[in-house]
Amino acid sequence: MSRTIYVDNAATTPVSKPVLDAMTPYFCEAYGNPSSIFYSVGAAAGAALAAAREKAAAALGCEAAELFFTSCGSEADNWAIKGTARKFARHGKKHLITSSIEHHAVLHSMQALEREGFEVTYLPVDAEGFVSPADVEAAIRPDTALVTIMFANNEIGTIQPIEEIGDICRRHGVWFHTDAVQAVGAVPIDCHALPIDMLSLSAHKFNGPKGVGALYIRKGILPLNFMDGGGQERGRRAGTENVAGIVGLAAALEIAVNGLSEKRTHLAEMRDYVLTHLRGMPQVKINGTLDGGKRLPNNVNASFTAAEGESLLLMLDMRGICASSGSACASGSLDPSHVLLAIGLPHEIAHCSLRISFGVQNTMEDARAVCAALDEIVPAVRARSPLWHESNGSFI
Ligand SMILES: *Cc1c(COP(=O)(O)O)cnc(C)c1O
Repeated sequence: MSRTIYVDNAATTPVSKPVLDAMTPYFCEAYGNPSSIFYSVGAAAGAALAAAREKAAAALGCEAAELFFTSCGSEADNWAIKGTARKFARHGKKHLITSSIEHHAVLHSMQALEREGFEVTYLPVDAEGFVSPADVEAAIRPDTALVTIMFANNEIGTIQPIEEIGDICRRHGVWFHTDAVQAVGAVPIDCHALPIDMLSLSAHKFNGPKGVGALYIRKGILPLNFMDGGGQERGRRAGTENVAGIVGLAAALEIAVNGLSEKRTHLAEMRDYVLTHLRGMPQVKINGTLDGGKRLPNNVNASFTAAEGESLLLMLDMRGICASSGSACASGSLDPSHVLLAIGLPHEIAHCSLRISFGVQNTMEDARAVCAALDEIVPAVRARSPLWHESNGSFI
């Protein structure tokens, strides 16, 4: 195998060298517990933690006091949703609103709450994956505790009308959380300029380390704690802080936000090259919106008549190309992606889908290599597919 072309950056990204360098001192040198302030190794860790919080808050347009570090994006989602639901349940408000295309960290949190007696409205999306703000407004009831709608979708890249949805929530006095794990570091986000109350993010989606995330909680909002224990994170999230990880999160966020317009242009150039190429291929359907401004700059998702996603992935892998299928193969399930079904794809088309997500480390050469590979692989997979022969090549 020659070289690896990694185009699955929506799954995770490599840690960049400057981020690794920023983290390194906090493993073996300044290894102290940030709560142990009476000796210098502890104080050094505490100072690094405080500086990282300031840096990350500045990049997000919020105050350091509004930022709480967690163990991952999933924990931030769980905290926002369960902490809010259980708080308002004490006042008899047990209704929650979300969309049908959320990440499993949100959907499975909702299902857990349903088992505890909460009621959840799952809003549909249109064929491009957009939630309608009017649907959000119509779903709000006097007992609604929370609206949570993702900023941008991890499979099809659709960016939601967050400002309109947030304005509606404000008007109705309902807390609004957004899972911005895919959006942070990819599109401009200013927490204070947006009508949002809580926002989740995760470092490993923007060239930071795995196992560290954060929840922005607007001043004046107080969901119940999710992790009980010591008094870390101003008493809101127990557990000795992952100092190196948090320093890495802040460094990665600062780099991503400082270079954001360049990064977006670079990513969108690769995305649009592949999208244009795919639109020229026979029997291919692009999933998500064709409006580049409303799609994550790095996201490509398409379905290929009678060419199973898993087969495409295996053949791409043989060429050193790492991508992802639209189906939930990671969970070992044969069920196709809930996102692709929600935008109206039939099962047999959803199974024949591929997600390509670029990162800052990719080049136009990678984009061209992916297209050249697909030109060969798709007809080869189809040639072996009974479905293709039965359908006479006219499925989509
Ligand atoms: C990756 C991802 C998560 C989960 O983040 P982790 O840090 O891996 O737990 C949540 N939501 C979305 C949209 C994601 O893409």
